[in-house]
Amino acid sequence: MPRISVDQQYCKGCGLCVDACPKGIMALDLELISSRGYHPAYCTDLEACNSCLSCAQMCPDVAITVER
Ligand code: SF4
Ligand code: SF4
Repeated sequence: MPRISVDQQYCKGCGLCVDACPKGIMALDLELISSRGYHPAYCTDLEACNSCLSCAQMCPDVAITVER
């Protein structure tokens, strides 16, 4: 199963990765507020992830790491 890491130091909650994911499994965590004051992105269903890297490539802040 792939691993998706979102570095909360860099994520600004813009949602671009949410729109970029073809599986619809990236979301903003509305329960969490980062130290920068944003809702960080996270992967809601790692089993459904196909490691396409779209989320990581879309992120303007290079906050996402995908491990296959
Ligand atoms: S695209 Fe990057 S900065 Fe924007 S919500 Fe996703 S991880 Fe955060
Ligand atoms: S690697 Fe692809 S399928 Fe997996 S969370 Fe990112 S955009 Fe979605």
